[in-house]
Amino acid sequence: MRKEKGLLLVLSGPAGVGKGTVCSALREQETDIQYSVSATTRAPRDGEVNGINYFFKSREEFKEMIAQDRLLEWAEYVGNFYGTPIDYVQETLNNGKDIILEIEVQGALKVKERFPEGVFIFLMPPSLAELRNRIVGRGTETVDVINERMNVAKEEIDMMKNYDYVVENDQVELAVERIKSIVIAEHCKRERLIEKYKELVEVN
Ligand code: 5GP
Repeated sequence: MRKEKGLLLVLSGPAGVGKGTVCSALREQETDIQYSVSATTRAPRDGEVNGINYFFKSREEFKEMIAQDRLLEWAEYVGNFYGTPIDYVQETLNNGKDIILEIEVQGALKVKERFPEGVFIFLMPPSLAELRNRIVGRGTETVDVINERMNVAKEEIDMMKNYDYVVENDQVELAVERIKSIVIAEHCKRERLIEKYKELVEVN
């Protein structure tokens, strides 16, 4: 029987909505989902480890990755480059495993152009006030960066119409449960199962 490809899951949403926190919580639950580690030119924050949180690159190294077509998508975000290395994503999907990308909105839309069959999940903040609290609460950004991130966030919320699912991040555990339910539902999608069981249908 033909091997089924894994699901390409894209978790996106405005800056500060908690994509990273939700993704880490999902990771801790040890589901069968694999995680894509992005490349970035931003400096590591305290506690971040190269190869686990990000592949930290110089601007030259990053541009080299773009030139060699090694990124599935990339975006410039608040003065830094972020991108998804393509090899690991392709290898994982071809091995029949699901993979999740936690990326900002511009990048998610680029992935959609290349992989329209992906599952696009938009993480929503409960309110704009709460979003600002979260960006400020992180304590790692200057006022200018906070204001810039809030402006970007408002434009990004408008992009929610391009997504398959919208998940509210009112509580991390609830958001994680909702994402797990989406994954189960996508695995039960008629189109996927028809493809998988074509041989049975053809025999009858
Ligand atoms: P941070 O600097 O807070 O880790 O990430 C900033 C933003 O970049 C977040 O919205 C995060 O989701 C996004 N991001 C992380 N990795 C990637 C990537 O590979 N591609 C794109 N387009 N965005 C990413």
